[in-house]
Amino acid sequence: MFRCKVCGWIHEGAAPPDACPSCGASADRFRAMDMTEIGHATRDLANYGIAGQGYDRIDVEDSRRIRLLAFVDASFYNPFTIRHGKRYPIYTGDPQWFSDNIPCMTACPSHTDISRYIALIADGRYADSFELNREHNVFPGCLGRMCARPCEDACRRKEVDAPIGICYLKRVAADYRGETRRESAPPPNGLTAAVVGAGVCGLTAARDLARKGYGVTVYERFPVPGGVMWTGVPEWRLPRDVIAEEVELITDLGVQIQYNTEVGKDISLEDLAGKHDAVLLAAGCQTASTMRVPGEDLEGVVSGLQFLEDVSLGHKDVWVGKSVVTVGGGFTSMDCVRTVLRLGSERSVMTYRRSIQEIPVDELELEEAEIEGVEIMYMVAPTRVVGDENGKVVGIELVRNELGEPDASGRRRPEPVEGSEFIIDCDMVLVAIGQRQDNRLLGELFPDVDRRGVPLLDQNLKTERDNVWAAGDYVINPTNFISSIGEGKRVAEFIDHALRDTMPKIKEMEITRVPTEYISTPNPLLSEGIADWTLTSMSRRLVWGDDYAGVGRQVMPVLPVPERGLGTFDNTLETEIGFTKPIGFEEAKRCLQCQLNIFIDGNRCILCNNCADVCPHRCIEMISPDRIYSIDNDVELAEMARAELGQYAAAMVIDERSCIRCGLCLDWCPTECLTMDHFRLTPGIERESVDLAIVAG
Ligand SMILES: Cc1cc2nc3c(=O)[nH]c(=O)nc-3n(C[C@H](O)[C@H](O)[C@H](O)COP(=O)(O)OP(=O)(O)OC[C@H]3O[C@@H](n4cnc5c(N)ncnc54)[C@H](O)[C@@H]3O)c2cc1C
Ligand code: SF4
Ligand code: SF4
Repeated sequence: MFRCKVCGWIHEGAAPPDACPSCGASADRFRAMDMTEIGHATRDLANYGIAGQGYDRIDVEDSRRIRLLAFVDASFYNPFTIRHGKRYPIYTGDPQWFSDNIPCMTACPSHTDISRYIALIADGRYADSFELNREHNVFPGCLGRMCARPCEDACRRKEVDAPIGICYLKRVAADYRGETRRESAPPPNGLTAAVVGAGVCGLTAARDLARKGYGVTVYERFPVPGGVMWTGVPEWRLPRDVIAEEVELITDLGVQIQYNTEVGKDISLEDLAGKHDAVLLAAGCQTASTMRVPGEDLEGVVSGLQFLEDVSLGHKDVWVGKSVVTVGGGFTSMDCVRTVLRLGSERSVMTYRRSIQEIPVDELELEEAEIEGVEIMYMVAPTRVVGDENGKVVGIELVRNELGEPDASGRRRPEPVEGSEFIIDCDMVLVAIGQRQDNRLLGELFPDVDRRGVPLLDQNLKTERDNVWAAGDYVINPTNFISSIGEGKRVAEFIDHALRDTMPKIKEMEITRVPTEYISTPNPLLSEGIADWTLTSMSRRLVWGDDYAGVGRQVMPVLPVPERGLGTFDNTLETEIGFTKPIGFEEAKRCLQCQLNIFIDGNRCILCNNCADVCPHRCIEMISPDRIYSIDNDVELAEMARAELGQYAAAMVIDERSCIRCGLCLDWCPTECLTMDHFRLTPGIERESVDLAIVAG
C-alpha cells in the first residue's frame, strides 16, 4: 500500500498510481507504507472506509458541537487535511447557536448574561455587574446566597476541573457594588395590573410591568415581601436587609405592595379582575403536604413550612423540641434541621426516604449540616408518630426502604422492607415532604380547573378569563427561585403582548471583534460591549501565560462552627461569609468566557495547521470536505458544497464544546487570520424606562 504525501490518499496496490486520484500529485509523491501503518489503515478501512474512498460508509459523529470556521482553497499545497475519522454534521452559527454556546446562560431559567457579569466582576466593576445581573435575575444579592444554580451543572469549566462559582459571584457583585443605582418610574401607559403574591415570581412580573408603564399593585397576605425568601429561608442563610434592599429597587418604580391582604378573604379575586386590566396569580405553593400516618395530629408534629414561617415572622411563642426529627430531604427540610440547632435543640435528625444519590440538596449543604451535628438517615420512611398519654410526641416509627424500579421522576422508587421498623425517641416531628397550591383565593371565578385545582392555562399562561394569568410555583409546582423569576419575566411579556399588542422583544445578534492587535495594551476605544477584562485576560492568557486554567474553584468561607450561634437562640448569624474581592477575582478569572468565539478569515488562511497543532484541547481540525455529513442539518447542502469545492479544499472546523478560550491558536497563526470575537444578544426594542443596560468601556 502507498500513501500520497500531499493529501494522505491511500492507494492499494503493488506500485503507486501515476497520479493521485485525490489531489493529482505525481507518482513520486507517494511513499510505501510500513506494516504498522498498513495495519491501522486496513482497520480504518474495515471500520469506516476512508474519506473520499467510500466516505458514505463512515459513521457520523454527532455528539460534538462542530462549527464551520472556513472553507479554504487547498489547491496549492495541503499536507495536513485529515481525511480519516467520522463525518461531522457542521453548523455555520446563527444567534441561537452562539447563544447555546454559552451553556450557563442557556441553563439559567431566566437566561442571565453570566459570562459578561463575571467579566465585569473581574474588572472590579461590581455595580455594573450587579445591574447587568438584575436585568434578568432581579434579586442577585438574594440568589447569590441560595440559588439552586442549574447554570453550574451546565458550566463548561466542569470539563476542565469544577464549574465556576456562578452563584457566589452574584453575591460578590451585590456585596461590593457600593451605592445602588436607582431607577425611576416611567411615564404611565394608562393600564393597571394586580399581582397576587409578593414572592419572587410576583415581584419580578411587577418590576417588568412597571418598567413598561403599568400601574402595579401587589396583594400580599403576609406583612413582608419576598414570599418564601422571607417566610421560609432562615435569616442565617439570607439576611433580611438584603431582601428589603432589592425589593426597594422594585418599589422605586412605583409598584405598590399591599401587605396583610389575603386575596379570597380580605378582597375577592373577582373584585381584582373587575378593577384591573390584568391580574396575575403568583401565589406559590404554600400549603404543606402531610405524611398520612397515624399520630400526625399529636402535639409536637408541625409542618416545616409553618415552623420556618413562625421563626421568620418573629413569632415570640415558637416552640422548639429538644430532640427533633425532620421528615423529608429538600430545601425545607435542610433549613429546618439546621435552624432547630440554633434555637436550642440538642438533637436534630433528618430522615429521607431515598439514598444520598437522589437527595435534591447541595452536597456542600449536606456537609455543613453534618458538621453542625445534624444526623442524616437515608432510606427510611415514617410509619407512625408515637405519643404519650397526654397526646404529646415521644417518638417516631420509621421503616427502612430499599430502592425498586424507577418511578415517573426517573428516580428509583423506595419500597419498605417488611419487619425493619424502628423508633427514634423525639419530642418534635417536623414534616417537610412537599407543598401544594392553596386555591381558596380563586373563589367561584374558575369553573374549570386541573386536578390540582389550578385554573386551566393556555401556552401564554393565560387562564380562561380574558384578563387573568398565572405563573411561578403556583403553576409549575414547587421548584426554585430562579425558575419562578424566569416565569415572572415570561408572564410579564405575555401580559403586555395581550394588552398592548406589543411584540415579544426581538433580540439582535452582535458580534464584536476582540482586537488582538491591542491585546497587550487594550485600547478602551475598541472595548465597547466587551468588558475590559476580556481584553486584559486575553492579554494575560497569551502574553503572561496566566494560569487561569490551573486555578481551582474557590471555596466559600464560612463562620467557624462555634460562632454560628448553635444553641444560642440567635438565628441571624450569616453562616456563609461571602468571597473577598481577591477571592472573587480568582474565581471570576477561571471563567472560560464562553461568549468568545473563534473565527477564521478563509482568504488569509494558508492551511499551516498551527492552530490545530497548538490547541491544547484539539478543538480545531482541518478536515476534508468529504467528512462533512451535513451543513446546518442539510445533507444536500453538504453534497453541493463538496461538488462546488472540489477535492482540493479543506474545511477548518471547531468543536465549540471543548474550547477553553486560551487564545493560543490566535497567537500561533502566522497570517493573523484567526480572531476571537465577542457575542451577545441585545434587545432590539428599547425599554420604556431609563435604560441601565451596561455597555463596557
Ligand atoms: C423553606 C424553603 C426553602 C427554600 N430554599 C430554596 C433555595 O435555597 N433555593 C431555591 O432556589 N429555592 C428554594 N426554595 C423554593 C422556592 O422558595 C420557591 O420555588 C419560590 O419561592 C417560588 O416563588 P413564587 O414567587 O412562585 O412563590 P412564593 O415564594 O411561595 O410566593 C408566593 C407569595 O404569594 C403569597 N400568597 C399566597 N396566597 C395568597 C393570597 N391568597 N393572597 C395574597 N397573597 C398570597 C404568599 O404569602 C407568598 O408571599 C425553598 C422553598 C422552601 C419552602
Ligand atoms: S465557563 Fe464561564 S461562560 Fe462558560 S459556562 Fe462556565 S460560567 Fe458560563
Ligand atoms: S482558544 Fe485555545 S482551546 Fe480554543 S481553539 Fe484556540 S487554541 Fe484551542
